[in-house]
Amino acid sequence: MTQALAHAPRASADTETWARTGPLTGKRALVTGGASGIGAAVARSLAERGAHVVVADIDGAGAAALADELGGSSWTVDLLDTASLTDDILAEAVDGVDILVNNAGIQRINPIQDFDPVDFRRIITLMLEAPFLLIRAALPKMYENGFGRIINITSVHGIRASPFKSAYVSAKHGLEGLSKVTALEGGEHGVTSNCVSPGYVRTPLVEKQLAEQAAVHGIPEAEVLSRIMLTESAIKRLVEPEEVASLVAWLASEDAAMVTGSSYTMDGGWSAR
Ligand code: NAD
Repeated sequence: MTQALAHAPRASADTETWARTGPLTGKRALVTGGASGIGAAVARSLAERGAHVVVADIDGAGAAALADELGGSSWTVDLLDTASLTDDILAEAVDGVDILVNNAGIQRINPIQDFDPVDFRRIITLMLEAPFLLIRAALPKMYENGFGRIINITSVHGIRASPFKSAYVSAKHGLEGLSKVTALEGGEHGVTSNCVSPGYVRTPLVEKQLAEQAAVHGIPEAEVLSRIMLTESAIKRLVEPEEVASLVAWLASEDAAMVTGSSYTMDGGWSAR
């Protein structure tokens, strides 16, 4: 498993379109799980606003392709393989990173009595320990520069529980706590730390679930959404990855300098009930 940083070639004719100036010009961002879904939308959104983006993912080909398109860099990394995430590797990965987006995540669904402890540990490692290691590695330079933005993608399950998702709910609740501690420690150094906690987002994973449920129940997908998946939501549609990404981009900007230790739900009102 390679943990090496692969710097994608910068600026071809295509990538020039992404070399934009904007509120994040001159900033370097690292997005974990950046090859797909929410992470890819976040990477695009930060690049559109002028940031140089490092796309970090276990899917090295996907990360490199997106990094190439955005004129950024890629890092092929298995964030579950924490033994190889040495201080040196991590320091190189986060070198000069002003904006760290902890996004990579996986899901397992099973009642607690049937939940494989190996799966439980994997989810906690990927979604809590790896963010801790990256934050720990990124903070010294951020403190030195007097600027840093940590943005953790949690979930409505970081604030409310759901049966059969013991590991996911535990990891997301833990990450919400870690984010607040980071905010308290980083405030005087110009570092903010916040969570974005979406409801169901239209990513390949959720679209597959939607199609499966529509087939099982023999009803249109729109009905699956309103009657099954989004019963508790006020706005009966999926969140788009770009909507999450635009909130992340705002949190990364100077405009959000006084926002820290917060968690922003984007769930169409689901958690208001
Ligand atoms: P996704 O499956 O589309 O993307 C996840 C990315 O993480 C993939 O590119 C995958 O390769 C990468 N990844 C997985 N394991 C990895 C590992 N060991 N090391 C490095 N990278 C790894 O998922 P998504 O729906 O975009 O979810 C992204 C984040 O948003 C997750 O943390 C998820 O919990 C959270 N979230 C998603 C939803 C939703 O409805 N989709 C809702 C709330 C929160």
